[in-house]
Amino acid sequence: MTMDVLNLIGGRWVEGEGEEFADTNPARPSEVVARGRFASAREVARAITAARDAAPGWAATPHHARAEILLRAAALVDAAAEEWGAELAREEGKTLPEAVAEVRGSARILRYYASEADRDSGEVFASPRPGESVLVVRKPIGVAGLITPFNFPIAIPAWKIGPALTYGNTVVWKPSSLVPLLAYRLAWALTEAGLPDGVLNLVYGEAEAGSAIVDHPGVDAVSFTGSTAVGRAVIARCGELGKPVQTEMGGKNASVVLADADLDHAAEQVCLGAFRSTGQKCTATSRLVVATQVADELLERVADRAARLVVGDPLAPEVEMGPLVSSAARDRVAAGVRQAVGAGAKPLAGAEPLEREGWFVPPTVLDLPGTGVDFWRTELFGPVVGAVRASSTEEALGLADLSDHGLSAAVFTRDLGTALAAIDRLEVGVLHVNSESAGTFPYVPFGGAKQSGFGPKEQGRAAREFYTRTVTVYLGAPA
Ligand code: NAP
Repeated sequence: MTMDVLNLIGGRWVEGEGEEFADTNPARPSEVVARGRFASAREVARAITAARDAAPGWAATPHHARAEILLRAAALVDAAAEEWGAELAREEGKTLPEAVAEVRGSARILRYYASEADRDSGEVFASPRPGESVLVVRKPIGVAGLITPFNFPIAIPAWKIGPALTYGNTVVWKPSSLVPLLAYRLAWALTEAGLPDGVLNLVYGEAEAGSAIVDHPGVDAVSFTGSTAVGRAVIARCGELGKPVQTEMGGKNASVVLADADLDHAAEQVCLGAFRSTGQKCTATSRLVVATQVADELLERVADRAARLVVGDPLAPEVEMGPLVSSAARDRVAAGVRQAVGAGAKPLAGAEPLEREGWFVPPTVLDLPGTGVDFWRTELFGPVVGAVRASSTEEALGLADLSDHGLSAAVFTRDLGTALAAIDRLEVGVLHVNSESAGTFPYVPFGGAKQSGFGPKEQGRAAREFYTRTVTVYLGAPA
């Protein structure tokens, strides 16, 4: 079934004056999952004006009333989780259980941000002056421009829109053009839950629409998630304009397996980190550093698991890994693997192209000749993990840190001292000890170090550092 999707501008669902688009199923590219039209430049500007007009009223709405709307939206999202999960699997390619979990996770994120209404909204300090208190009050930033990637079509938007709305901001949102349907679903849930007109605006478009949002003087701050290349351009432009910006960008995440680790557990977790969501997670494991003493044993288990993974239609119950999102993604990953093999990497599993309909690549494990290969530095964003060996814990942690990216890492060890050393040594935003490199909880900060992240972190209370600004009030007693 093909869904028709619409832009949401100033509380009205509109077709869009721009180019037509078709959202296709990456497992069966001839199947159109959703279709619609991009917003024109004029419509993007109208959406921003609508968000500006709605901003004072929404900021003045009591926090608990804003929270009620998020709670109603969360209930609608939860109620539709099975149906929307299937749509997500059809438009993005992750397996049905992962897709349903993502939809449910989005409801949880909205509930978390609703609960912010019950927490403190500022701070009070003492003053050395008699009768005076110092208040730190938080205010919304105004209109937030949100730009989201394809790989979590509903969770990432929820973890931007949730805090933006709960803290009293209005929103203009441009989702990835690869996943318009789940964007439509989330916007529908929020409007159906009672969001006033203009508070959330959804505009479909590609890079041009994203740039228009970044550039527009009516947008007070920009939150972007996507590749490092685009993120850095967004940072540079916001710098020129003096606009607050938050970017979460690419990763090249390492898992370190030390000689004292439980190898069965480590192998299983490395495979989950590398191959779940077809490796299309910013926190996916793509580099593996293994203690030399256990390297052959560990790599054999990882390669064996990879070779046995069932690849196919993400809606089929037996399938463990679906396709990549697009033909461009499939070609990029295949080229990266060819390049690594050409540079001396030994394929332990996968690597050969799959001759079948859809944007499939096999789960691939490479034994790398060292860290000098492009593979070590370049994010492929697919189900490929490349391994090197290390002869000491210090060397292993050093190799894991040898990257321009710093999103997440995993360390497998039974030694507390090693875990503590990893916290010190690894420049990452997220560190897992004895679990896969991917996975986040909505109530704790999320975001990367180095070239993986810029600006305040997302999720949990960290989000309010971006979506609010403080006013420090010296509240003296009347004379
Ligand atoms: P992308 O190509 O950078 O696109 C991200 C978003 O930016 C899309 O909506 C895209 O629109 C838009 N865009 C493209 N060019 C733009 C421009 N010049 N100005 C403004 N917006 C522009 O990333 P993606 O392929 O969707 O997502 C995969 C990447 O995101 C990976 O690098 C992954 O690591 C990263 N990611 C990071 C995190 C994190 O939290 N650190 C989470 C998820 C993903 P169109 O695509 O519609 O043209």
